[in-house]
Amino acid sequence: MDGKALAERLRGEVTREIAALGHVGLATVLVGDDPASDVYIRLKQRAATEAGIDARDIRLDASTSEDEVLALVHDLNDDAEIDGILVQLPLPSQIDETRVTYAVAPHKDVDGFHPVNAGNLYLGTPLHVPATPAGCMALLGEYGVDPKGKNAVVIGRSEIVGRPAAMLLLQAHATVTICHSRTADLAAEVRRADIVVAAVGVPGIVTADMVKPGAAILDVGLTRTEEGIRGDVDPAVADVAGLLTPMPGGTGPMTIALLLESAVKAARYRRGLLAYPTL
Ligand code: NAP
Repeated sequence: MDGKALAERLRGEVTREIAALGHVGLATVLVGDDPASDVYIRLKQRAATEAGIDARDIRLDASTSEDEVLALVHDLNDDAEIDGILVQLPLPSQIDETRVTYAVAPHKDVDGFHPVNAGNLYLGTPLHVPATPAGCMALLGEYGVDPKGKNAVVIGRSEIVGRPAAMLLLQAHATVTICHSRTADLAAEVRRADIVVAAVGVPGIVTADMVKPGAAILDVGLTRTEEGIRGDVDPAVADVAGLLTPMPGGTGPMTIALLLESAVKAARYRRGLLAYPTL
């Protein structure tokens, strides 16, 4: 499943939508100098700017207090030029991530991490949805995989990837199993799956012998090793799977594209072109 190609197409569509809307403002907030976070923010900023988004790149010192971050978020919530807000995680240890996540106005929460957005996804009425699992669903759609009635196994239960991926698959009528570090027999669970979302961060944890022939496999896990970027899925899985995302070039570019879609959605919510329940 060529995430790069689909992401490029989606970004083209988003660019046209932004031009039609006239102005879409996105603020990204990076606290500290974590190198991986810096790379992600650069990618998001560049993609947003290329799509015509008015992208504000806010960087704060690693020693910034929680109160200062909360004050900034409140200002952005009230800022008429800003449709979407993204606070890059993880935050330095003196800042409570939950408090910051709660502080973002739900309709501006392009990451979909606010409990109102997470709760609506759980209830089957999605508003803002986390970009990585949304990208996985878009890839399945693009390649003609209808989750309805299929066995889907999600490996990982984070709020960012695993849980929302499971909820989206459930909403698409898959029979969903969520696996995690305490799962007794991961191989047995994966072997039953027609669709696998691997979001662990352990290189090659999904091996060819665990995969049902013909299954669709979405490799989300990303680990930087001396040999380069490795996914959760062993490359030999390509011989067994029906569809597989490459790493890199699969779920990563889709995450960026879906984030841009979220920014457009946020602009529509603010303009009343789409209904957001608390607005
Ligand atoms: P996370 O919060 O660390 O969650 C990892 C999950 O994997 C946890 O639920 C954990 O279980 C589970 N796990 C750990 N070891 C396991 C094992 N041996 N067997 C089964 N499950 C195991 O990470 P995350 O934020 O969800 O990210 C997951 C991976 O995706 C990371 O590599 C991250 O870099 C990558 N990622 C990629 C993209 C992309 O666009 N491609 C976007 C976001 C994240 P417990 O809950 O029991 O601890």
